Parts: sequence; structure tokens; C-alpha cells
Amino acid sequence: EKYVYDFTEGNKDLKHLLGGKGANLAEMTNLGLPVPPGFTITTEACNIYLDGGREPAGLRDEVSAHLDALEQRMGKKLGRAEDPLLVSVRSGAKFSMPGMMDTVLNVGLSDDSVAGLAAQAGDERFAWDSYRRLIQMFGRTVLGVDGERFEEALEEAKRAKGAATDVELEVADLKKLVALFKRIVSDGTGRDFPQDPREQLDLAIRSVFESWNTDRARLYRRQERIPGDLGTAVTICSMVFGNLGPTATSQGGGTGVAFTRDPASGHQGVYGDYLQNAQGEDVVAGIRNTVALAELETIDKKSYDQLLSIMETLETHYRDLCDIEFTIERGRLWMLQTRVGKRTAGAAFRIATQLVDQGLIDEAEALQRVTGAQLAQLMFPRFDDDAKRELLGRGIAASPGAAVGKAVFDSYTAIKWSRSGEKVILVRRETNPDDLDGMIAAEAILTSRGGKTSHAAVVARGMGKTCVCGAEELEVDTKARRLTVGSTVIEEGDVLSIDGSTGKVYLGEVPVVPSPVVEYFEGRMHAGAEEADELVAAVHRMMAYADRRRRLRVRANADNAEDALRARRFGAQGIGLCRTEHMFLGERRTMVEKLILADTDEEREQALGELLPLQKKDFTELFEAMDGLPVTVRLLDPPLHEFLPDITELSVRVALAEARKDHNENDLRLLQAVHKLHEQNPMLGLRGVRLGLVIPGLFAMQVRAIAEASAARLDAKGDPRAEIMIPLVGTVQELEIVRDEAERVIAEVERATGTRLKLALGTMIELPRAALTAGQIAEAAEFFSFGTNDLTQTVWGFSRDDVEASFFTAYLEKGIFGVSPFETIDRDGVGALVRSAAEAGRATRPGLKLGVCGEHGGDPESVHFFHEVGLDYVSCSPFRIPVARLEAGRAAA
Ligand code: ADP
Ligand code: MG
Ligand code: MG
Repeated sequence: EKYVYDFTEGNKDLKHLLGGKGANLAEMTNLGLPVPPGFTITTEACNIYLDGGREPAGLRDEVSAHLDALEQRMGKKLGRAEDPLLVSVRSGAKFSMPGMMDTVLNVGLSDDSVAGLAAQAGDERFAWDSYRRLIQMFGRTVLGVDGERFEEALEEAKRAKGAATDVELEVADLKKLVALFKRIVSDGTGRDFPQDPREQLDLAIRSVFESWNTDRARLYRRQERIPGDLGTAVTICSMVFGNLGPTATSQGGGTGVAFTRDPASGHQGVYGDYLQNAQGEDVVAGIRNTVALAELETIDKKSYDQLLSIMETLETHYRDLCDIEFTIERGRLWMLQTRVGKRTAGAAFRIATQLVDQGLIDEAEALQRVTGAQLAQLMFPRFDDDAKRELLGRGIAASPGAAVGKAVFDSYTAIKWSRSGEKVILVRRETNPDDLDGMIAAEAILTSRGGKTSHAAVVARGMGKTCVCGAEELEVDTKARRLTVGSTVIEEGDVLSIDGSTGKVYLGEVPVVPSPVVEYFEGRMHAGAEEADELVAAVHRMMAYADRRRRLRVRANADNAEDALRARRFGAQGIGLCRTEHMFLGERRTMVEKLILADTDEEREQALGELLPLQKKDFTELFEAMDGLPVTVRLLDPPLHEFLPDITELSVRVALAEARKDHNENDLRLLQAVHKLHEQNPMLGLRGVRLGLVIPGLFAMQVRAIAEASAARLDAKGDPRAEIMIPLVGTVQELEIVRDEAERVIAEVERATGTRLKLALGTMIELPRAALTAGQIAEAAEFFSFGTNDLTQTVWGFSRDDVEASFFTAYLEKGIFGVSPFETIDRDGVGALVRSAAEAGRATRPGLKLGVCGEHGGDPESVHFFHEVGLDYVSCSPFRIPVARLEAGRAAA
């Protein structure tokens, strides 16, 4: 077993083994870039250590061998008094976990070797500065001493000296500080700071292993969905020093970070920060003011030019934006880290197309460089960049969007105010299931506690509502109905602006602008037009790449002509789900009531007769809007009680009327009906095809409306393509009965209108039994549409509305699933049923058309799954169509 790789032995594809940092240092070494020599201990060694509590056998010897080689090469020995070799011991996992794990610099310094380092460098101050840094870092991360104690001592030393920054401390001050730091260590740990360099090294390695499992690292992994069993690699890298004095002197140097292009805009250029006379994390720690990287040109032109050329090499090599850590020691440039850099959603699109233009990547690869989630982010309205704003605080960006409203501190007020037309932001310390109604009423939710899997975050995402959570600087006092941030006090009714995409919270109203990307999809902006920016042009191109490649078609869930037209603008290739229940609401409710209350066939037929022309008109408009494209109409699905008055309200009304001796016959009958229709579990009750089978004439009326609307469209020289879909089928017998009736009705309409209608008849697969008997069901169905919302509910035995608000947070926190199965399809359970049902269906009927409707149709990961399974289309809400198109293209690329 090999646990240690020299930088010359690794490469960038070994991230799982060497971590991102180690793998990329190896890659740069092999590219011939100036990397201080070193080696990396594998993640496997880490995992063995974490499993068994001890280093794997042989690791120590292997480290010794690599250390020897390193010492030979450098002509120095780790911590040797005369000419010490110093190293950094650095964490680095397969996926970047910035700042979550440990790194220790200057390992090898001791009371003996500090003088050697001073002599070597000809700089005593530098040597003592490095030593105090070692004790501080080692003390805090390896020995677990409270870091504050070192900070306070350092501050005190600066105060005593009247020094503004650490560079003003002189040798004598630093020596005193080192003595003090050593005392802090022995006080805090009951042992002296280790003077043996090898012991320092071994302890540091072990501490990096252990830093994989700190609370914050675990929490970060859960939130970022990084598996917990990957482990970290440990990179040991010979030290180079940027803290030998200012760069202007030939002795000097500094340290910096750089991006090969702007991670916010994607523009090529010189982006980064540089800090003279500094080491390591001084740049990010913000202890002194950095200068823009471009200024390095005047400070040290030679290193600057070399850096720019290396940046170009890296971009060409990685064919992507890279970020870089570098240090200049005595006018010599050293590369300390690189990786493919994080970027904003907008920059991701721009960079991908720029790289295509530069010939660095092809279209298929460009598609891999962006995600549907990024596109979705770009489609939210956002706060006007140019508007003034006052930042109040910052939390976790839990659910995107830009919302403005009045602060309220309880659900009751949220509901009351929103009923009277106010926009409100629900502010809570954290939310719980009792807040649900308030969350629905609010424009956005703001909490001071909890992370991305907190109740507020999960529920808000599920509702598509803006949410910032865990804004810890905000002190929420729900009793006093007040929010305090520092000296600012926000009372109930004060206006807040919440940015769910950045986690920022502003005081007062920040103007909201529509997303330019949506303006483009809406057809209000053309990619080539002047006002269109680079982002719109990039999105336009990426959509074209995706559309050229994807095999999945994308349809919309839309119930009316307006939604259908918008969906078309967004690129929908038909409607995958038209919910007819929406056509039974509003003033039509009374007709539905009549239907439900009908005692005789005549009464019922009369009620249906009133509904027929209305339905026909709805369908005619819809087919016109979607002319030439398929429209799947689902026959009535929800339980009937949903169309009747609320049982409590009605009971009260009837009781009051009784008391007044004021009999209302209709209300009494209604109440009886409501009682009769009341169900314990409406989700599993009289709904879907079951309604069609027990209420004579209901489905026939709907089929007739569809058929007559189709005939009317044909008559108007249109091209209607309706597909009739039967919901909640569990067995082929149900479908056969409905089918016979539907065919009879269609034949009647054909005779009456003298047209020939091509209406497809199919079913939803949304019950486990339907999925398991899909082969039989396909005998009677010309298409399947997987209703993955209901299928998820029935496969898991979850009632969606109940579980999301009650125990899902706990499930997510316990890691039972990383994401709600209602958000992303559960491949192993629900997904397996979809796969086998698709296969069985096609085995019976080779041409069977397969689609999916429901939230999963617009979810990036789920779209990839549906592509793999071989469905023909996904259907999702109009707003998600671009996301689905892009992801379908990515799945096929
Ligand atoms: P992180 O993963 O938190 O960025 P790093 O391992 O990259 O931690 O190290 C922290 C800082 O120390 C970085 O600025 C890095 O450039 C610097 N650093 C690491 N190793 C060396 C070294 N051998 N010589 C000089 N600086 C180093
Ligand atoms: Mg780093
Ligand atoms: Mg359903």
C-alpha cells in the first residue's frame, strides 16, 4: 500500500486520493511551474486513521523516506539548528471545503532552529515572526488552545509598542511574544510547546486528519452534500517566505491570491489581491490592507509578468477559470495552490461561452460548466444593482429571490396583514410547523438561527419562497416584536428587503428589477439587441447548445391559455399536464355543488350540461394557444369535498340559522353532503379515476368538452393535439371502463361534427400498483405520464403536506436523505419503479409515449434521471422550462 506521493508522482485526476490541493500542486509541478517541493499523504491513510484511531502501519516510514528525499533536495534538514528546513502541513479534500480544516505553517521551528533561520535569511526579525506564527497556529489547531488568547497577547504587544500592524513589531517585541505564546501553550495544555521538529510534523499530520471530523466540517459537508467518508489528504510543502520584508527591497516579497478571470463577471484580466511582507493567510485574514494585484506590476515587474504568464498556462491547461495562491520570496515567485475557481451563476454562463470562443472547450463541455440551478438563480428578480441600500446583516442564502415587505414577528400578524393587502416579511428566531400559515402569507422568511436544512429553509424552498436563515447578528425578540442589529432597532411594520440569493438583509425598500434573463425568455429582449448584455447573449447560446443535443422534450404544466402562451415563449413543446380542477373553481363552484347534490339523473345531467360549454371554451382557448403541439388534459382528480364549503364554517352557518329558526334547505343538504364526502385521508380516498367511475357522466362530460373543442379547432383550420389522461389508476380494469366510455363519446362527437378526431388516451402512473402492473395497463393506455408527486407520497407512505412541515427537517439533519424526495426523485425507490414501469409498458406497447409531470420534471438531478430511463418528455411549471431544457441538454451532452 502506498500512502505518500511526491509532488512529481501525482496529477490533477487524483483528487480523491491526494485532495484537490495535493493533486493540483502535483499537476503544477509536472507542468514545470515553480512549486516548492513536497509530498502528499493520501486520503486513504486519513480514513484508516479515523477508523482505527492510529496511523496505518508503514505510514511513518514512508513519510520518513519522503522527508529524507525532500531534505536532500533542499540541502537542509527539518528543524536542524544551523539551516532548518521548514514545511507547511496542509489539509485538502477531494471537494474544496474552504477554511473548514487545518493547515499549519512553519513546522520545524524551535528555540534552536530560530537562530539558524535568522542566519539563513540574514533577518532576525523575520525568523522570530515566523516562530511566533508557528506557536500561534500550532497551539490553536494542533494543541487546541483557545486562539483568542494568542490574539489578545498580540494585540497587547502592538498596543504596548504603539504599533498599528504586526510588521512594526521588532525583534525584541517578537522574542517577548514568543515567550508569552509558549506560556499560553503550557498553561492551556499542561505541556510545553514541542521542540522536536519531527514530533511537530507528526502531531500536525494527525491534527489535519482529525480536522476532517470537526463539527463545522461535518456541518459544511452536510450542507454542501459532500460525503462524510472521503477523508482529507495531508500535503507537506517546503516553506517559502513572503515575510522577509517589503518587495521593494531585493530581499523582499509578499503573498497574494489571483483569479485568471473575474469570478463575478467572467471577464479576462488581472484580478486578485497582494500583500507585501506577509505570509500565508494574512491576505484572507484581512490583517492589513491588501493592494490590487495590478499594482504588483509596479512593485515587482518581473514576478508580475511571470505570474501573468503562469495564469495563462493554467487557464489553457485546465481550460477553465482558476484561482491561485502565490508567494514571492526575495523576488522569486512560487505557486502554492490552484484550483478551478468558484464563480457566480452569471460568470459561469459567460465563461463557458468565452472558452468556446477561445477554442478551449467545445459546446458539449460548455454545457457541463453550467447548471440548471445557476440558470434558475439568474431567473429570479433581483435588487437593482444601482440602487442605494443599507446592509443590515447577512445570513445563509436558503431560498432565492428578492423580497420587500414589512417586518412581522408572528404568523398571526403575517396572515392578518397580508389579508389586508400588506406585503410582509416573517421574522423569527427559527420557524416550526406552527408558523406554516404565516410563511405562506409572507413574501419572505428571515430567521436568525439554523442552516440550509432548518425548518424555515426546507419549507421555504418547497414553497418557492424567498428565505434567509441563520442571520446570527440579528437579534430577534418575538415578544417585544423587535429586531436588533447592533444599535439599529427594527420594529414591527418597518420595511426590510431580503435577498435570498446572497443571504443579505437590507433596511428599507430596495427596488427590485426583473431578471434580464427572464426578459429575454419572455421575448421582451433579443439576445442581439443593444440593451441585452453579455449574460443574455451567453444564456441564449447555451440554450441553443442544449436544445441541439437534448433528447428529452420539455412540456409545461399549464391550465389556461395565458400560462400556455408563456410556456411556449419559454420553449415548451406542449402541455404535459393541464389540471381541469382549476376549471371548476370560482363562480363555477355552484355548478359543482349542484352536481354533487343531485338526487336524480336529470338534476345531475343538468349540472353537467351547464359545465360542458364552459369546459369546451377553456379547452378551445388552450388548444389554440398550443396549436400544433400536444396538450395532455387530466380528467378531474381531487376529492370532491375540495369544491364544497369548509365543514366547520358550514356547520356554524347551519347552527346559527337553526337558532334563528331560519331553515336553509340548500345549506342543510350541503352539510349532509360534506359529511358524507368527508374522508380521513382524502389523498387516498375518492379521487381520480374513482370519481369518474362512481359519478355517472362526469368524465364523459369532460371527454365531450375536449372532443368538441378539438372539433371546433379543426373547423377553424387549427391543429389541436389533445391527449386525454386518466389520473390515479391502480389497475387496467379501471382504465378499460373509462376508455370504453370515452371512445363512445368521441365517436358521437365525430359523427355529430363530421370530423375525424385523433385523441390519444392514456394514464398517469402514480400508484405503486400501477407501476407494478404497467405491462397490463399499457394494453389500454397509449401513453404514460409518471405522476411522481403522488408516486413519492404513496411509495414512501408520506403525506407531503404533513411531513414537509413536521419531521423532514429532522430527517435531513440526521442525513436520512440529503434532499427531500419531493424535490429530487428518489432514484433507488420511486425511481426504480419508474424505470421498471417504463420498461414493462414499452414491452407491451413499443411506441408507448412516456413522460413525467410533477415537480420533479423541473428539477435538475431528476431530469438527468428521466433522460437515463429513456422517457420522451418532462413536464414542469412554465418558469422551470428553461432549466429543464438546459438540464436535458446537459444530460445528453
Ligand atoms: P487553505 O486550504 O485554508 O487555503 P492552505 O493549506 O492553502 O489552507 O494554507 C493556508 C495559507 O498558507 C495559504 O495562504 C497558503 O498559500 C499558505 N501556505 C501554505 N503552504 C505554504 C508554504 N509551504 N509556504 C508558504 N506559504 C504557504
Ligand atoms: Mg489555500
Ligand atoms: Mg397525482
